[in-house]
Amino acid sequence: MTSPTLSKDIHQENRLLRRRLEDYLAQAYKNEAKLRRFQSHELRLIGLNSFFELIQEILYPDPSIFNWDVVTLLLFDPEYELRRILEEEGVEIRDHAGLMFAADSDDLDALFPSSLFPTLGAYKPKQHAPLFAATRRSPNSIALLPLVRHGRVIGSLNIGSYNVERFVKGVRTDFMEHLAAVVAICIENASNLERLKRQGLTDTLTAINNRRFFDQRLKEELERSSREGMPLTCLLLDVDHFKKVNDSYGHQTGDHVLREVAALIRAQLRGSDVLSRYGGEEFAALLSRSAAHEAAEVAERIRQSIAEHQFLNTDGEVFQVTISIGLATYHPEKIPGAAKLPGDVLVGHADRALYEAKSNGRNKVVSAGAIEPGKESWF
Ligand code: GH3
Ligand code: MG
Ligand code: MG
Repeated sequence: MTSPTLSKDIHQENRLLRRRLEDYLAQAYKNEAKLRRFQSHELRLIGLNSFFELIQEILYPDPSIFNWDVVTLLLFDPEYELRRILEEEGVEIRDHAGLMFAADSDDLDALFPSSLFPTLGAYKPKQHAPLFAATRRSPNSIALLPLVRHGRVIGSLNIGSYNVERFVKGVRTDFMEHLAAVVAICIENASNLERLKRQGLTDTLTAINNRRFFDQRLKEELERSSREGMPLTCLLLDVDHFKKVNDSYGHQTGDHVLREVAALIRAQLRGSDVLSRYGGEEFAALLSRSAAHEAAEVAERIRQSIAEHQFLNTDGEVFQVTISIGLATYHPEKIPGAAKLPGDVLVGHADRALYEAKSNGRNKVVSAGAIEPGKESWF
C-alpha cells in the first residue's frame, strides 16, 4: 500500500500508536483492578481466625470479586488431623463436597508432575473429573493451583470456568501464583494454631484431656447421640479420701496416684471413649453407644482395678486407694429434631449418683439409670 502524502502517513501512524497506547492503558487498568481484587481477597484470608472460616472463604469466594464458576480444594491430610479439627469445630464435612482430602502425597504430586506452578487449560474429564466431582456441571477450562509449603505440595486449589477461554495454557499466572502462596501460608498457619489450641486441652499432670476438652466433647457427643439415636453414658469418678494420701505420703505421691489412676481408668475404656481430668482428683468419662447396664459393668471393672492396684509411696511402701463412681445414661428418642439433653443435666445426674456412692461408704459404683426425653429425670 502506498500513501498519497507524507503527512497522511504520519497521521495514520499517530492514530495507530494512539490506539495501541489506549489498549495498553486499558490492559493496565484491568490489571490494576484485578490486582486490587486479589489483594482484597488475600487480606480477607489473612485476617480470618478459624480454620473453618478460612476453608469457607477459599471454597466460596465473593462472586463479585472473582468470576469463577467452580472452586474445589484438595488438602493433604494423611493422619486425618485436618478433618478432626473441622469435626471438632462442629463442621459437617459432607456438607462441603468441594472440600477433599488426600491421604497419599503421590496423589497431589501427580497433579503437578512437571512444575510447582499453576496449571491452566482445557478441562479434561479423564484427568480432572475427580477434582470437580462435587460440581453439578463440569467446567470447560480449569486452573489448578499447587499449594506449596517448604517445597512440598500440601494441597491443590482447583478453579473452573464454564468459559473455555477463561483459563488458557501459556498465559502469565503471576496473580494465581501469589494467591496460591497466600492460601498455602494461611492453611499452614490456621492448622498450626489449631494444634496449639489442642495442646491447651490436655492436663499436664496426667497427660489426659482436661475439663475444657470434656465440655466441648460432651456437647458434640450429645448431638451425635441424638442424631444416631444411640445411648451416651457419663461417668464421674472421684478418688476416695485423697486428702489423706497427700497428708500421709506428701503431694508427690499424691501426684503419682493421680497419674496411675488416670492410666488405670483409661485401660478399661475403648479408644473412642472420652476421658478427662475433671478437677483435682476427679475424672469424667463419656462412653458412647453403650446401654446403662454395659456402662455400669465398665465402671465396676474400673473400680475393681483401682482397688486391687498396689500403689507405692516415695519410700517404696505399698498402699491402697479406692475410687467412687457415679454414672448416668442418656437414651435419646429416635425422632428427628427431638429436644437434646443439655450437657449439665447429664453430668448433674452422674454427680448425684457419685454423691450417693460416697454417702454409702465409698469404693462403690452407683448408676442414676437411663435419662429419657419427657421423663422427670430429664430436668
Ligand atoms: P472424698 O472421698 O470425699 O472425695 O474425699 P477427698 O479427700 O478425696 O476429697 P477432698 O475434696 O476433701 O480433697 C481432695 C484433695 O485433692 C484436696 C487437694 O489438695 C487434692 N488435690 C487436688 N489436686 C491435686 C493435685 O494435682 N495433686 C495432689 N497431690 N493433690 C491434689
Ligand atoms: Mg475425693
Ligand atoms: Mg473431689
